[in-house]
Amino acid sequence: MKIYNTLTRQKEEFVPLEPGKVKMYSCGPTVYNYAHIGNLRTYIFMDILRKTLKYNGYELQSVMNITDVGHLVSDEDEGEDKMIKGAREQKKTPWEIAEFFTAAFMRDIETLNIEKPDIIPKATEHIPEMISFVLELVEKGFAYETSDGIYYDISKFPGYGKLSRLNLEEQIAGARVEVNEEKRHPADFALWKKAPKEHIMQWESPWGMGYPGWHIECSAMSRKYLGDRFDIHTGGVDHIPVHHENEIAQSEALLGHPAANYWMHGEFMMVDNGKMSKSLGNTYTIDDLKAKGFKPLAFRYMCLNAHYRNKLNFTWDGMQAAQVAYERFLEGALQHREGSSAIPKDVQDSFLSDFEDAINDDLNVPRALGVAWNMVRYPEKSKDIYDLLLKMDTIFGLGIKDAKNGEEDQPQLDAEIERLIEERQQARREKNWKLADEIRDKLKDMGIELMDTPQGVKWKKR
Ligand code: AMP
Ligand code: ZN
Repeated sequence: MKIYNTLTRQKEEFVPLEPGKVKMYSCGPTVYNYAHIGNLRTYIFMDILRKTLKYNGYELQSVMNITDVGHLVSDEDEGEDKMIKGAREQKKTPWEIAEFFTAAFMRDIETLNIEKPDIIPKATEHIPEMISFVLELVEKGFAYETSDGIYYDISKFPGYGKLSRLNLEEQIAGARVEVNEEKRHPADFALWKKAPKEHIMQWESPWGMGYPGWHIECSAMSRKYLGDRFDIHTGGVDHIPVHHENEIAQSEALLGHPAANYWMHGEFMMVDNGKMSKSLGNTYTIDDLKAKGFKPLAFRYMCLNAHYRNKLNFTWDGMQAAQVAYERFLEGALQHREGSSAIPKDVQDSFLSDFEDAINDDLNVPRALGVAWNMVRYPEKSKDIYDLLLKMDTIFGLGIKDAKNGEEDQPQLDAEIERLIEERQQARREKNWKLADEIRDKLKDMGIELMDTPQGVKWKKR
């Protein structure tokens, strides 16, 4: 299996630390609001990676954190904590919104067939681990205290910038106007912040009451659950220059060696070729898609059509096209379920090996999906093909097994029509003509025509 390692900027053969096992850490959501479709694209990428590792027979241990403290509005230690800002805007406590949006996130990932990672630790439940991590960095001389916190001294870590390949001047140019004059270097970052009295989220520490920086949580929690060395670390591309650079600096300084061997990053989703942002009103959620009649799995299908290292542009027309294609794909797969043709073994083998070559080539899911489409379109209908598609769907996660064709939906639909007709009859008996007409119109919208006959009401499809 080959994967692209951001650290080396190369596709590399994946070699786990321990044969047959993979330890993986993924940066998780900051739970101050609903996840938007861009966030969810990144979690679909992580899910495809996990499913591909399992498909290849690896025993996987995966961890994804929940950020419920410390992620400031700007990645450069500035502005308010996103949780506190979100809580104030929603007139709740940070703990209330964390609980609410964590539950919403779990529902979203379930509807997208994203498997839950094995361990989902919350930052606020790991404050002691973070404090001892910071203490060790101070003891080792990698951190210093200022009047408002404990900062990491990047001049002590020669490898700083190796992931983003930015030199320090570029890092500084990218950073916001410097406000903290006590920092030794503008790119030094907060490990721990001292809290003013009115700060809602604060904990006791050797430096008085305070709260952790955002980056320290991932270093501390990955170490706690995966140990000093693990295989793969994932996140979105926006994490490369600050969050992951800082995580590397923290972990390597403390451990004396790298923690993660492979760093993988998912590219961004754009909307109408631009950035997603609240001010543009284009940070759509899964519920927004559902409200417009789109199936969450049609969104997953859309994501699978772009390689995870390419930008994906979301438009409503594109979403519509994806839903149509997704439904055709399922219908095509179902035609094979009842098929009785036998497909030669070598044809089956070549489909499967093309699929495996694609997914093992740095998760080339668009190519793998192309193979599946060739199978769907195969002229002979065959259960063999259906079974192969089910196997592939352990990675695609498109719900082929649960798909129903129109005929299977029919008995349910018929029962619904009968129920509405009976309701209309009841309304007429009660001389509620308005309701009776409403029900007739509703049935009309469903394509059902009613005929009053001496034997009662009959119906037919138009
Ligand atoms: P957050 O909840 O802000 O910490 O972000 C959660 C995840 O979504 C992170 O891995 C980000 O890298 C990722 N992310 C944020 N915006 C986008 C986007 N437009 N497209 C894809 N991923 C994104
Ligand atoms: Zn992280």
